[in-house]
Amino acid sequence: MLFPTTIAGSLPKPEWLAEPNTLWAPWRSKGDELARAKRDATMLAVKLQEDAGIDILTEGEQARQHFVHGFLEKVEGIDFAHKVELGIRKDRYKAMVPQVVAPLMLKGRVHADEARVARAHTTRKLKFTLPGPMTIADTVADRYYGDKVKMAFAFAELLNNEAKALQADGVDVIQFDEPAFNVFMDEVSDWGIKALERAAEGLTCTTAVHICYGYGIKANTDWKQTLGSEWRQYEDIFPAIAKSPIQQVAIECRNSKVPLDLLALLPGKVVQAGVIDVASDTVETAEDVVTVIEQVAKFVPLSHIVATTNCGMAPMRRDIAEAKLAALGAGAKLARERLG
Ligand code: ZN
Repeated sequence: MLFPTTIAGSLPKPEWLAEPNTLWAPWRSKGDELARAKRDATMLAVKLQEDAGIDILTEGEQARQHFVHGFLEKVEGIDFAHKVELGIRKDRYKAMVPQVVAPLMLKGRVHADEARVARAHTTRKLKFTLPGPMTIADTVADRYYGDKVKMAFAFAELLNNEAKALQADGVDVIQFDEPAFNVFMDEVSDWGIKALERAAEGLTCTTAVHICYGYGIKANTDWKQTLGSEWRQYEDIFPAIAKSPIQQVAIECRNSKVPLDLLALLPGKVVQAGVIDVASDTVETAEDVVTVIEQVAKFVPLSHIVATTNCGMAPMRRDIAEAKLAALGAGAKLARERLG
């Protein structure tokens, strides 16, 4: 089937799970009650995607407060009690981040509960997202390793353990989210791609990397204003990714200033093309989705195109996110009729 659909990863959380319309939203409950709420929200996320005609589902990232820190919470060697302010993504925004204070080790499984709940409630393909090692290394304060690369590889090893366990849970696609790749372009070819490959080592399921221009929050939309009329970051990093064994690359296309001819730098890769803008509340039409797929198809074989969202929808209003999910499903269906 042409143009299978997926989402970058996250969906908004219901207001009974966490404070709505915000990143890093505080949970509404704790302990067993929170665990039950996360389970219910995960089932709901699966159902909403199925109803919208999404083919490769995620658990909507309902069980994690943030795409990076959800992983870090299960890592030993990190001091969450004494967060420090750090300018992240080259000072694009300030965040209160935990500190690495000792050798990094997993306390146990990170995402087993939500992966198994999602797996038990759908027969469709399941994708699971993990933060990439470079992005994690840019979102914590190092007080132990004294070497960003060494620390990133330590995280890569932990990510690899969790990724293999997720694969054993029945996950079909493991996607590493590396927004930092679009910021530290030189470092991607120096070590970022190698750290990513370490995280994906030995996986037999499908592997993907998501490299975006971020959530639709003000710090990101302001940053995009400084990037000029053409966003060419992918041009610097795609050659390194093209040489890697990572099979799929998820990127931003809709309402983006990325010149899509850069996709020709990814021969053989499956492109998860962002056809839904997460930085705008305007809901796409099915025609809008078809238009982006047609543009991407000039540079990527039809059989290698997956339709997705530009980035996660975590901070979005739920009704808008649901309408965008429906547009994604309907748009890909229309594209199959037109181009199939
Ligand atoms: Zn993203």
